[in-house]
Amino acid sequence: MAIVFRLVAVVLILSCCYPALGAAQEVTVDSSAVLKTLDKDHPRLMLKDKDLKRLKELYAKDKVLQKCLRDVLKDADACAQKRMLTYRKIGPRLLSVSRECLHRIYALGLAYRWTGEQKYAEKAVENLLTVCAFKDWNPSHFLDTAEMSHAVGLGYDWLYSYLDIETRKKIRAGLVKNGFEPALSAYKKSWWPKSEHNWNQVCNGGMIIGALAIAESEPRYAEQIIISAIESLPRALKSYGPDGAWMEGPGYWSYATHYTAYGLTALQTALGTDFGLLQIEGLAESGNFPIYTSGPRGQYLNFADCGEKSSRRPMPCMFWLARTYDNSLYAESEHAQIAKSDAGAQHVVWYVPAPEGRPAPKDLDRYFRGPVEIAVFRSAWDDPQALFVGLKAGYNQVNHGHLDLGSFELDALGVRWVRDLGSDNYNLPGYWDGKRGGRRWSYYRLNSKSHSVPLLDGEDQDPLAISKFTRFETERSSAFVLVDLTSAYKKSANKVTRGVAILENRQAVLVQDEFDIEKPCEVIWAVTTDAKIDIKEKDTAVLTLAGRKLIARILSPSIAGFSTESAEQNPPQKTNKGVSRLIIRLPNANGNVRVAILLSPVWKDKEVVIKVPIKPLTQW
Ligand SMILES: [Zn+2]
Repeated sequence: MAIVFRLVAVVLILSCCYPALGAAQEVTVDSSAVLKTLDKDHPRLMLKDKDLKRLKELYAKDKVLQKCLRDVLKDADACAQKRMLTYRKIGPRLLSVSRECLHRIYALGLAYRWTGEQKYAEKAVENLLTVCAFKDWNPSHFLDTAEMSHAVGLGYDWLYSYLDIETRKKIRAGLVKNGFEPALSAYKKSWWPKSEHNWNQVCNGGMIIGALAIAESEPRYAEQIIISAIESLPRALKSYGPDGAWMEGPGYWSYATHYTAYGLTALQTALGTDFGLLQIEGLAESGNFPIYTSGPRGQYLNFADCGEKSSRRPMPCMFWLARTYDNSLYAESEHAQIAKSDAGAQHVVWYVPAPEGRPAPKDLDRYFRGPVEIAVFRSAWDDPQALFVGLKAGYNQVNHGHLDLGSFELDALGVRWVRDLGSDNYNLPGYWDGKRGGRRWSYYRLNSKSHSVPLLDGEDQDPLAISKFTRFETERSSAFVLVDLTSAYKKSANKVTRGVAILENRQAVLVQDEFDIEKPCEVIWAVTTDAKIDIKEKDTAVLTLAGRKLIARILSPSIAGFSTESAEQNPPQKTNKGVSRLIIRLPNANGNVRVAILLSPVWKDKEVVIKVPIKPLTQW
């Protein structure tokens, strides 16, 4: 394929795409000069030899770094024993093969560079040559191509001095044919360079690494890819604004942010510049997102196709954020993770020593603004028994979104009482058909019927709905958020507002929904739970889970009563075995309707909160 040269000599990248940066921080890229600052040596990506030397000095006295290296060498030894990669797609994806290759190259590559032992280099090269001989890297699902380009580019760069001339040539040829050629075509024709979500960072980040790895041999490809990537990246990076939340949920935050870190580190190490991308609003704050959206036991506030029961795990990009933005909270949070789980090679690459002195302060409550808004409240940090509640607003069309505006999750006493079921199988027919009436919304886990949201006449929220928090207040003993859900229920109601409060010295949660209904319809209030539900009186349900109890009480309307339903589904959907719905049905509801439910964990040695005064949401 012919390489198309950009005729415009100077591309104003951020001044047009991102006015928040301001004139003083305008970044210009001269397309003919983009490689002028290229470090001619290898390794030039992620971890240069001088960085390795510095780490080895630190290693002598830093016990955590010693532990990280032990973990990496153990991992590299395991990688060396694995069967060779084969071209095997799952559904339309080769992604698991690309990721496995990336994992092996980081572990084996770092093990070789740290120890000098040839067995690691040998195995890494075998993997590189194997994937370079694949017929393609599945460009129709470009994440697969980008992650493989990352793996192969990194391997070439880190092992450069080990490789003979012929092997280098073979690897470069594989990278050009399977990575660069499809990338140039994608930058012209594909949708992802214009996307604002994880695909953008992963595809651009992976291609940046591939391009910079062999830029001296293939400067025309490299120039074109780097310039296209730098033009494209701000579209997604601005999605972190203004507070660092990620609209695709904590699971995709990790994927997107790791690739932000890969791409920007590669630019810095190989070219000596980040092109101003580090200044984009929200990126510096984004390490707060996984910290605040983790419940007391580490389980994430689950939304947007987050894996079921997904929890905070070691994430090396937290070290990258910590060192890039000099943030001790991020460093501390990641050190806590690797103290209980294995560290990876990227932890070593971005290593920051544990901060000394007092722990960084954290708020009990946090409001993340943005296209998808998140509010989280808790009774305490560093107490696995603490009360935690989080809910979301935003828009239902967001990538990986469910019909879940106003949905909430609740943890207390060490368990999750109210939960989102998480993603279903991405290969279900029509899984990505999210338009109004699209097949995506026929799946239980994705539509409103599985979420802890109101249902009017049993119908899902409008897939085009947009919602906003209208108030967020936080005090020492209580806090609340109000969300306007009207746009999700326009067919049946003039106005729908939800209030969620943590109150009574942060011992209980009140969920209060107010509806203005013109024509009689059925109002359903429901939550999804793993607990066993025992309806004691019509207005009181006792939920039991892992030997703990939580009392749900209907405070309004007085006529209402609880019932239960199974959340189980038939294959090919995920079956949700043992999951239930606690439900209130108000048939023929009309006019102004208020549903107020108190969710009250039974704390040890404390009286259960069974009543709180009810006020209209306008008076909260
Ligand atoms: Zn969901």
